[in-house]
Amino acid sequence: MLTLKRYDRDKIIKHCVKEFPNEACGILAGRNGKVEKVYEMTNADKSAATFFMDAKEQFKVAKEIRNSGLEMAGIYHSHAASGAYPSSHDVEMAFYPEASYVIISLIDKNKPDIKSFKINEGRITEEEIKVV
Ligand SMILES: [Zn+2]
Repeated sequence: MLTLKRYDRDKIIKHCVKEFPNEACGILAGRNGKVEKVYEMTNADKSAATFFMDAKEQFKVAKEIRNSGLEMAGIYHSHAASGAYPSSHDVEMAFYPEASYVIISLIDKNKPDIKSFKINEGRITEEEIKVV
């Protein structure tokens, strides 16, 4: 289960809508599946079909997360034209079995669909998002 503050969930959705139709991406910092801070990241791919985090920016954020005593709880990104489910590319690029992969589908921009998954060696498991 991933616990997300209402404020952070809204921030994620706002970021995804802003980048539409390109995919937006970001890092969730927290502890024990509880998100404490959301980092909006740059999609270096600038693509409507994929995302790739800028390596320098990712390094900087990872350091900041460590320094604040948190962990990388997850990664989020948006899908402009497909559902809130990991693509085969997403599965290939899922290098952190402990992390939550949050996907926001903007097929209906007025009703974004947000879901969270664990991806471990190609196996996709959906997990509940608890908004607090
Ligand atoms: Zn994706």
